[in-house]
Amino acid sequence: MDFNYDPQNIFAKILRGEIPNKTVYENDHALAFEDIAPQAPVHILIIPKGPYMSLDHFAMAASAEEQVGFMQAVAEVCKIAGVEDGFRAIANTREAGVQDVPHFHLHILGGRVLGRMLPKA
Ligand code: 5GP
Repeated sequence: MDFNYDPQNIFAKILRGEIPNKTVYENDHALAFEDIAPQAPVHILIIPKGPYMSLDHFAMAASAEEQVGFMQAVAEVCKIAGVEDGFRAIANTREAGVQDVPHFHLHILGGRVLGRMLPKA
């Protein structure tokens, strides 16, 4: 698998401060912010600060420190968002996963019962 990261993607611009965002949490390795078009009462995106296109790219190429930092951000976001009753984490990936922005992001969705994972095909 060839990972060609595009530094002009919209989340890279957010990381560089070229586009504003509503930050929920930030650490050395990850940024979490409100999704611009929320699909649920809680809809937060968590992204690594490094140039990774997708979950599998991040899992293969990011350092242990980056991966731990990212997961710590997930823990903090879940606390901040108050999703004790449950939530869904989604990482849409490439064409079949219908990924629009080619910078790895984890959607954290909650605040209501979300229904079944996928509609029946
Ligand atoms: P994907 O389909 O790639 O998994 O999801 C991309 C997500 O990014 C979508 O939920 C979309 O609403 C969100 N998004 C796209 N552009 C922006 C933006 O400029 N700011 C924020 N906060 N979210 C964005």
